[in-house]
Amino acid sequence: MGDGSTQAGTSFLKKRKRAFFNFFLASVIALGGPSAGNIIFNDLFPSQQRKDFKKEFGFDLHGWRKDIEEQPTNLRTLVLSLQKERLIKPFSNMKEARIVPREFWKQSLWEKIPFHFVTGQYFSGNLLLLPNKVLTFHQVFHELSHEKYNYSTLDYFAQGWPATDNNLTRPDFMKYFEHYIISEYILHKLDSKESQQWLEETGFSFVSKYATTSFYEDVAETAKTALSDPLLIGKLVREQPESDLSKKYEILVKDSLVSGDLVDLSLTMKLYDASLVQKVRDLETGAATGISPQHEYLRTFFVKAKSFLIENPQSVYTGTIATLAGLAYEKMCLEDAAITYYHLALEAPYKDAEYYALALKRLGVLEDESYTEAYQRYVEGYEAADIPTLIYGTH
Ligand SMILES: [Zn+2]
Repeated sequence: MGDGSTQAGTSFLKKRKRAFFNFFLASVIALGGPSAGNIIFNDLFPSQQRKDFKKEFGFDLHGWRKDIEEQPTNLRTLVLSLQKERLIKPFSNMKEARIVPREFWKQSLWEKIPFHFVTGQYFSGNLLLLPNKVLTFHQVFHELSHEKYNYSTLDYFAQGWPATDNNLTRPDFMKYFEHYIISEYILHKLDSKESQQWLEETGFSFVSKYATTSFYEDVAETAKTALSDPLLIGKLVREQPESDLSKKYEILVKDSLVSGDLVDLSLTMKLYDASLVQKVRDLETGAATGISPQHEYLRTFFVKAKSFLIENPQSVYTGTIATLAGLAYEKMCLEDAAITYYHLALEAPYKDAEYYALALKRLGVLEDESYTEAYQRYVEGYEAADIPTLIYGTH
């Protein structure tokens, strides 16, 4: 008898345990679902690209093969953004980069919480990005700016940051509502105006409507714009040194959220462009022979480019300016000087796809055919989003 009741008790316990286990399993599936399975599968059997990613950046890349291995644009954008960002300021807390699938059934519950995922989210070391068709530099730069923002410097940051009425006068609930619901759902989507337009309308203060919703988003949006549109920010800071934008830029530079050479960069590029404009005018007026005014513009550009390269040898824009200097020397038929600058461009820490490829191509023409081969390898590696190629080049 005693045995029977013990057995019944044991089997009841077993049933409870099983029921608990089933509930646990069901919860795991409902919460993680195919997403968790996908992460486990790709962690166990990583592709070469995921291995390269982990080796290069020190944290995991998660997502579906359809969005990573089969979508090189996503991987390329992510890798080039991470490289640019970490050269300006190394990451301190990154644990994972994840490309969230568009398909609802592939998402975990965590990924489904919709207001997190209009474009992306950064939370405690996890960078989550939801591409709309393909990933954009804007998306990655915005979320990474949240990563790079050092919360320990909150006071320092907040004190210097130009006060924004719309952040401070609204009740907390409204701020929350507007920030997390209205902004993420509606403002971000409707915000089709260019940064320049927003800046003009807000007296050179905000780069987007989204930036007006909170201090944190303003920091992320301003840093994002400085990274994705450095010439615009450089130009406006140069022209409007007293504006809120300039004050914000200064603070971002102090904390290394963005590169500090944008004013110099925009000025140098402007001189380069001016020399091109002048060249067209010279051709139109028939003055394009001998020493023309175009050369004067180029000379001014050389002085500026040289000082930029001396002052910023490790900038993410070193390669850009060195390549432009090479092109300018070529225009003046000074090939040796052009070659020197192209080599400088190849050694620059950030391989800007456009200018790195251009330097290789011109060296192939001017110096050695092996650079033409390196150029072709670069183009292939770029198209396939081969990570070592994107980071280190092929020369
Ligand atoms: Zn944000």
